[in-house]
Amino acid sequence: MASVRWTPVHQAWWRLAYRRVVLSSFRTVPLYREKWALAGRTEPVLVLGRYGESDGAIHVTEATRRLADLVPLAGGTEHPDPQRGACNVLAMDGGGAREVLHDPALGDLGTRRDCGAWHLDWPRVYARETKAGPAFTLLRQSSPRFVDILIDEPVGKRVVQCRSHGTPAVTR
Ligand SMILES: [Zn+2]
Repeated sequence: MASVRWTPVHQAWWRLAYRRVVLSSFRTVPLYREKWALAGRTEPVLVLGRYGESDGAIHVTEATRRLADLVPLAGGTEHPDPQRGACNVLAMDGGGAREVLHDPALGDLGTRRDCGAWHLDWPRVYARETKAGPAFTLLRQSSPRFVDILIDEPVGKRVVQCRSHGTPAVTR
């Protein structure tokens, strides 16, 4: 994974994977159905200026208070897996001691590399900028479903493609 070059194909896949999760969550996950409907959002695919409150993001504190409502209608566990992504993140960047971006509910989201930016574990994690900070979405998850979640870690505000490493990162 360290040697993967970020190309327009990756970029397109990443956005598409996120849209799929948003669409599916809008249809099947109670908390998002409720939040997005209350915000007047009828179009689940993100449209600029039509995100609803907090730019459509939910803080992790609220999400974890309502884990039962993060279970898709088809069923699933309401217990988050804090080890989620751990193996993957450690394999990023060829291993070695790096700071890991970890959230107690979402698991490992990325690592800080020598450029200083927090590199996302992009095959599993999507992030987009909101006025409240980066909102994270787990792309390979079934239940509980985390979509557009704000976390407590102060990792920066901007989601960029790192100029040194090419892949998506969060920076100040
Ligand atoms: Zn970098």
